[in-house]
Amino acid sequence: MKNLNGLRQQSNSLQRSLSRDSRGLIALLLLFGSACSPVETTVTPTAVGSTQNLSKNSNQNPAPNQDKKVILTTFTVIADMAQQVAGDRAIIQSLTKIGAEVHGYEPTPSDLQRGQQADLILDNGLNLERWAEKFYGNLQNVPRVTLSQGVEVVNITQDEAAGKANPHAWMSPKAALIYVENIRKALVDLDPTNASSYNTNAANYSEKIKNLDQKLRETIATVPPEKRFIVSCEGAFSYLAKDYGLKELYLWAVNSDQQATPRQIQNVIEQVKSQQIPVVFCESTVSADAQKQVARETGAKFAGVFYVDSLTTPEGAAPTYLDLLTYNINTLVKGLKNSEQ
Ligand SMILES: [Zn+2]
Repeated sequence: MKNLNGLRQQSNSLQRSLSRDSRGLIALLLLFGSACSPVETTVTPTAVGSTQNLSKNSNQNPAPNQDKKVILTTFTVIADMAQQVAGDRAIIQSLTKIGAEVHGYEPTPSDLQRGQQADLILDNGLNLERWAEKFYGNLQNVPRVTLSQGVEVVNITQDEAAGKANPHAWMSPKAALIYVENIRKALVDLDPTNASSYNTNAANYSEKIKNLDQKLRETIATVPPEKRFIVSCEGAFSYLAKDYGLKELYLWAVNSDQQATPRQIQNVIEQVKSQQIPVVFCESTVSADAQKQVARETGAKFAGVFYVDSLTTPEGAAPTYLDLLTYNINTLVKGLKNSEQ
């Protein structure tokens, strides 16, 4: 872990050297504009005042986004949720990029600059962002809201993390409705002028999540109950498994561990064999080597990747949260069904 005081010093000097171009920097760093595109946009920097005058209203040459609030989220999944609620009324960014691991992320000096310039930070909480407290310790007066507040927490049951909260609550559509309500409240508090827009967007989005939840339940119901296993690298499906009556098996509890021990691998191998589980999977943001070893040693099929800690680019299988849920369940059910004799 890098020394964050050092990062702050670097950040301060970076801020001084970049202050003239800070509007351009902000725009360059947008990972999630209104089109939710990961493509960085090249813009001509416009002049702003001194470092003390970095507020988004100090621009002498107004840009179209000038009055919009800037909301920084910690990872791409909640960035998409926030984007759905914000619509075109606020600017949503993600600190970690598409495909990046969020658990053990190490913020950079430019991340600190983005954090300091944001009007609001939205995080997941439940110790997903292990780096969050140090990161926040280097920011001054930036409000933040934790989106998992109010979710019924599921604890990790194995390894040294046993007894601690499982951070992957967003993987449950039911819990996602609480995230959406927390986003709505946070945006309305921050930017009451656009409250009616946020309220309407949140209601529409919640309706979509509920409809998808129903559809996914029906999809899972087509698999015989005794075959409803989900085997992955990370224990990221505990909330979803609880919702949908799936039995979950995983190599490691959270991705910051991501090196399976021989004992963890052996444990999964034994259970896959004894339960005659036909397919195993891994998450997109980590190496699937250990799970492929499980497949080799059990005769189960390695049947693909799940998307959990990150979305994909628009060309990928999971460019939005709703796509992510759909893809994971369809991939699981297809794998389980193809294995039927
Ligand atoms: Zn994870």
